Amino acid sequence: ETVNINEFFNYILNRFDMMLKTDNEHTGETEHLQPAAKKKYTIKREITKRDLWVEIDQDKFMQVIDNIMNNAIKYSPDGGVITARLLETHNHVILSITDQGLGIPQKDINHVFDRFYRVDKARSRKQGGTGLGLAISKEVVEALGGRIWVDSTEGKGSTFYVSLPYEQIDDSEDEWDEV
Ligand code: ATP
Ligand code: MG
Repeated sequence: ETVNINEFFNYILNRFDMMLKTDNEHTGETEHLQPAAKKKYTIKREITKRDLWVEIDQDKFMQVIDNIMNNAIKYSPDGGVITARLLETHNHVILSITDQGLGIPQKDINHVFDRFYRVDKARSRKQGGTGLGLAISKEVVEALGGRIWVDSTEGKGSTFYVSLPYEQIDDSEDEWDEV
């Protein structure tokens, strides 16, 4: 379906903001929350105000962003800042999520999108999960004609990027005016 990625990205991020509130205000009612939500974090948004229309499957794309967000929380210390950005180039939208977490060692960086690959097996097992999240994310994004990649410094943090192709809808171009 055709989706305004600006609105949709904000909607997904709002759910992560809400998880925190629910956790704070109704202790004991957190069973439905994902484990990541039990950690404190702040989401900073640098998101274009423009409406950007892309062809995506909403459920599948939400899984991609949910996994990147849950990773950002899971692999960061308590109280970290997560920065979510959305910008456009002439034919792509680029979403990025930056954390201030553990980062990914250089030797592992080319493997984090592989099935079942986890950087530190002992550490990762404690955090829960299967090591499939990013492999599935990659499949979903590439099926949409997009790309997913990561930039990371060990001990400083990581930025995950997702780009999606989009057609610019130029409202000023009225075909009748051109005749
Ligand atoms: P799952 O997503 O299936 O619950 P997972 O989170 O371990 O499990 P992926 O999302 O595929 O699996 O991530 C693969 C591995 O990449 C992780 O186990 C972790 O070692 C590393 N990783 C992913 N995101 C980050 C991040 N933001 N910071 C540091 N390491 C990360
Ligand atoms: Mg994951």
